[in-house]
Amino acid sequence: TDIANTLKLQHQYSDLGPVFGTPTPPTPLEKPRTIHVNPSVIALLGLPPVSVGDTAWAELTSGAKLFPGSVPFAMKYTGHQFGSYNPDLGDGRALLLGEVEHQGQRWDLHLKGAGQTPYSRFGDGRAVLRSTIREYLAGEALTALGIRSTRALSIVASSEPVAREKMEAGAALIRVAESHIRFGHFEYLFYTRQLEAQHKLVEHVCAQFLPEVSGHPVQEQAEALLRFTVRRSAELVAGWQSVGFAHGVLNTDNMSIIGDTFDFGPYGFLDDYEPGFICNHSDHTGRYAFDAQPGVVLWNLNALAHAFSSLLDTETLKDCLGQYQPLLVDCFAERMRRKLGLALEDDGDQQLCADLLQILESGQVDFTLFFRTLSHYCGERPAASLHALVAPAQHQALDTWLSRYDQRLQKEQRSATERSHDMLRTNPKFVLRNYLAQQVIEAAEAEDYGPLETLFTLLQSPFDEHTSHEEWAAPPPESGKHLPISCSS
Ligand code: AMP
Ligand code: MG
Ligand code: MG
Repeated sequence: TDIANTLKLQHQYSDLGPVFGTPTPPTPLEKPRTIHVNPSVIALLGLPPVSVGDTAWAELTSGAKLFPGSVPFAMKYTGHQFGSYNPDLGDGRALLLGEVEHQGQRWDLHLKGAGQTPYSRFGDGRAVLRSTIREYLAGEALTALGIRSTRALSIVASSEPVAREKMEAGAALIRVAESHIRFGHFEYLFYTRQLEAQHKLVEHVCAQFLPEVSGHPVQEQAEALLRFTVRRSAELVAGWQSVGFAHGVLNTDNMSIIGDTFDFGPYGFLDDYEPGFICNHSDHTGRYAFDAQPGVVLWNLNALAHAFSSLLDTETLKDCLGQYQPLLVDCFAERMRRKLGLALEDDGDQQLCADLLQILESGQVDFTLFFRTLSHYCGERPAASLHALVAPAQHQALDTWLSRYDQRLQKEQRSATERSHDMLRTNPKFVLRNYLAQQVIEAAEAEDYGPLETLFTLLQSPFDEHTSHEEWAAPPPESGKHLPISCSS
């Protein structure tokens, strides 16, 4: 209980009023056992270290007890799912417990797997261990790669089984983010014509993230907010595309207003570079395929802009949305230049990058491993370590490309050693490959949490060599490619 009293929660969001959601007590999980605690997020919140054996902690993170000040609240939102508007969404299995302030930043604590709420529809309000571990690891992996993401404080497992395609172990996690407000929050208030509440929400978000316009006329705040979200979203997608991350379910209710990677379901990191990769096996048309993400995020921003049409005229909305494409192109180019070790900007860089990606696609090349290996390249011929990653039919094309790359590198002012050093801090050795996640999940389902701890550590420091864990850097065996990931979680 020591730990409980170090964390005083605020309830600024639930204080906005009943339009924004419903106070809902959690339904405690049976026999909760903490299986992992995230020391980085513990520190982010200014908490003292917590051990997995701390029973008070297990009670607090499983809904059995509440943190002081907590007003558990199911947030109401709507959104477009696979292109169709759904008015019946909201926190169906998660609750905003409250907000924590630490060192000038405010963090939401959100208990996912907390039981049914008024927005559960036919759902059981629960989460399974499998998807909980996937969400927990993905948040760390992306954060370490410099990509905004929600994170999680800890995972608790329960003795209570949960029915999905089969029976699975139940679990919950505390999701931590600076905000849990989604595009769908604004769509909800717009489509239900609750315009005063919409103003209130704009002001609420601006007070936290855009203090420079706080208190200004609401239209001005709304425009600043829309521009902010457009920019953050462009940066986010650029990040995803540069590391081979596919979200899988980019519905507008899974889009964070502050541009965090939000709501992990059947996401995937690319093994081989396959631009058309679809990680969600219920996405039959590839709406959320890896290479569709830039376009679909713009589609989502359009849906958000439409929700802002009660506040802003069409010209302004168009102008805000018009920023997206150039920002995305710039951010992506910047990230790819760094991956290639190019510190200077040159006109041909985008073409050089595009041509490489073409070779990676045709040559069925492991995306992560290629860039990691390229980080050690110093003009050698034959480029054996790179050839080893590329299908033979593409070796000629690769050599031609490498000659262009050699020439381009001559324009750089830094040494090969400096370049290599920087590339090794940009191109990770370890990513959250699906087959690795699967191994960790299977062990955890058998109550062996060692592999979870190992992968967690590697993903938090993915640029370090970790030479005693080489096997975790390996591409999947044939049997571990294209594992079907279920949407039910
Ligand atoms: P998602 O597919 O995770 O983006 O969720 C879509 C909607 O379904 C949201 O309104 C969620 O709150 C709700 N939902 C997802 N899983 C469950 C569940 N197990 N129980 C109740 N509601 C759920
Ligand atoms: Mg969702
Ligand atoms: Mg979800």
